[in-house]
Amino acid sequence: MVELLKGAPVSQKIQTEIKEILSGWATSSALPKLVVVLVGDDPASQVYVGHKQKMCEKLGILTEVIRLPGLSSEASVEQTLKKLNNDNSVDGILLQLPLPQHLEARKLIEIISPDKDADCLTEKNLGKLLTQTALVQPCTPSGIIEILNYYNLSVAGKNVAVVGRSLIVGMPLFHLLNQQNATVTVFHSKSANLKQQIKNYDVVFVAIGKPHFFSAADFSKDTVVIDVGIHRLEAGLTGDVDFSKSEGQLKAYTPVPGGVGPMTIAMLMKNTLALAKKRRAI
Ligand code: NDP
Repeated sequence: MVELLKGAPVSQKIQTEIKEILSGWATSSALPKLVVVLVGDDPASQVYVGHKQKMCEKLGILTEVIRLPGLSSEASVEQTLKKLNNDNSVDGILLQLPLPQHLEARKLIEIISPDKDADCLTEKNLGKLLTQTALVQPCTPSGIIEILNYYNLSVAGKNVAVVGRSLIVGMPLFHLLNQQNATVTVFHSKSANLKQQIKNYDVVFVAIGKPHFFSAADFSKDTVVIDVGIHRLEAGLTGDVDFSKSEGQLKAYTPVPGGVGPMTIAMLMKNTLALAKKRRAI
């Protein structure tokens, strides 16, 4: 029987830990504050930002969403981020991606102070990820590691594959898995014979951003598949993998929705708390 690796119980565990820590804060110290900067009106981003806001409210983390028009200039986004860097009441800053096409995400991410970088995306913090000195780790990849731990799926000594090499998901995930002592191969759009090669791995992490690019039959029997992809199709939310016929084939997989997605938000909360603790020297 294929095991469903749901994010909800893992997220719940993290939420409980955060709530417990924050329950003593209200009187002793100002509550942590996360600010999300949303440029434009991408419908999916609006939904994700709404979920982040709700989770903050649920856990007692202060939150603010700064909505900038889709046609905002680079200078105005830069100015907003700089203002947040200098605002002592702000602990974490998240620039919601993707940005409108005329804006360069990499350049704007670098404006965020590394001490307030809630998704560990600045060059300084990505470097610290490599040296294992980062205070916080990128939300989606670290959420995936939490799922593996929660369901006792050790990757140590295993041959695992990461499909996708973005700086937000694939590359940090590569490093975190490597730190877990997995032997990691990263595939990308120029990889030859991907579907043939992918059958050789015990655990496969898919983050390519293409709905139903893989089906369960593309993996070997007893493979664990972690699907990072998330797509809003007319039929509803779906991932990079079509799991509809996975019975008896895979060992376990993360459903979409309800797998990796909830973990990204939970880790954002955890990161905001960590940044807040550091800023208050707690
Ligand atoms: P990007 O578009 O930045 O990166 C996609 C990666 O996949 C690239 O490295 C690209 O290779 C690779 N790729 C694309 N097509 C193929 C192919 N045919 N074969 C092999 N590799 C391919 O996406 P992200 O990493 O930002 O996101 C990936 C997915 O994860 C998206 O669906 C996104 O919505 C989702 N996501 C979900 C989150 C969640 O919370 N669940 C959070 C973040 C993202 P190359 O480098 O060669 O171009």
